Amino acid sequence: MKGQFVGNSLRLPCVADELRIVRDADELAERLVEADACARPVTLLGGGTNVVLRPRLGGLVLQPLLRGLTVQRVDVRRWHVVAGAGETWHEVVRATLGLGISGLENLALIPGTVGAAPVQNIGAYGRELAEVIDYVEVFDRKRQSFRRLGVEECRFRYRHSRFKDDESVRYVIVRIAMLLGGRPVVTDYPDVERELVRMGKAVATADATAEAVVRVRRRKLPDPRHVGNVGSFFKNPVLTSRQLDDVRSRLSIDAHPAGDDGEQFKVSAARLIDSAGWKGVRRGAVQAWPRQPLVLVNHGGASCDEVLDFAKRLRDDVARKYGVRLALEPTVLGTP
Ligand code: NAP
Repeated sequence: MKGQFVGNSLRLPCVADELRIVRDADELAERLVEADACARPVTLLGGGTNVVLRPRLGGLVLQPLLRGLTVQRVDVRRWHVVAGAGETWHEVVRATLGLGISGLENLALIPGTVGAAPVQNIGAYGRELAEVIDYVEVFDRKRQSFRRLGVEECRFRYRHSRFKDDESVRYVIVRIAMLLGGRPVVTDYPDVERELVRMGKAVATADATAEAVVRVRRRKLPDPRHVGNVGSFFKNPVLTSRQLDDVRSRLSIDAHPAGDDGEQFKVSAARLIDSAGWKGVRRGAVQAWPRQPLVLVNHGGASCDEVLDFAKRLRDDVARKYGVRLALEPTVLGTP
């Protein structure tokens, strides 16, 4: 097959008709306008760390690796930080903490690029990106111009935003602006609390919290440099109180309020998967990771169909046993 291989952290074989890495926002706009003018399909890829790729990506694949990080002091405690969509998210977390700026500590070691972060409103251990976003700058393909979408316009929700609903990708993210600093550190998740105690930190600073998060994640999650994966393959489900009662009639499970109405509860997808007997299960090269079964790994040589088939069996089984249909977290792209 003619074309260019598309790198992805799940290490699935995928070839694009045409793959272009774009390092400049104006060039990105130009290429989009050109492709749209002749109705050529365009796929936008970030770091390839949250996608499940079928063997072929038709049309034009654009990978906007737009760099840049600027930091400006707003007042004694707060900073305005602007990062290009192509920066690596964890590098931005490290750079801001290195400058003594708190705010992103709980989001340490989340894989992927800055541009991908607002799409699913990345969050972890009690913090989410939406809390610190000032604006997201996009190229609007409909208006053919750059625009800044304020935090309200981004319609952030739990691991969701308007960019996730934007299937035809009208808004291409070029950079994000955040207001950091001036907030207390959040350390009340059991994994983080335990790690801080292990580290002997009586008072948790932003740096110590980030270090605890990194240690927890390193222990639980496979390193994509060594084994193919896209982090969590399934979202933690949000259940109504009736669904929760139903699950609890079959399984003892912790639940946390989602939202303020007292009607919605988050539960651990990993707990459901583990209880259904899938932790560590391996078929061919695909496995539910033994230390965090929410993550599916490709030990090498798996096809996209094999990964999706494994995921389907796992989801069907969890649905049959607990009445909860797990949703996929990564985006599936391409054609057979
Ligand atoms: P976990 O800590 O086992 O938590 C499972 C579920 O219970 C999550 O929905 C979590 O809510 C909720 N929860 C646990 N302790 C809580 C508390 N003290 N207060 C409120 N809610 C609580 O989850 P995990 O799978 O090991 O993941 C660890 C963290 O990474 C979680 O925060 C998870 O959301 C996050 N994560 C984020 C992404 C992403 O951004 N795409 C992907 C994977 C994991 P929350 O989800 O609100 O934390």
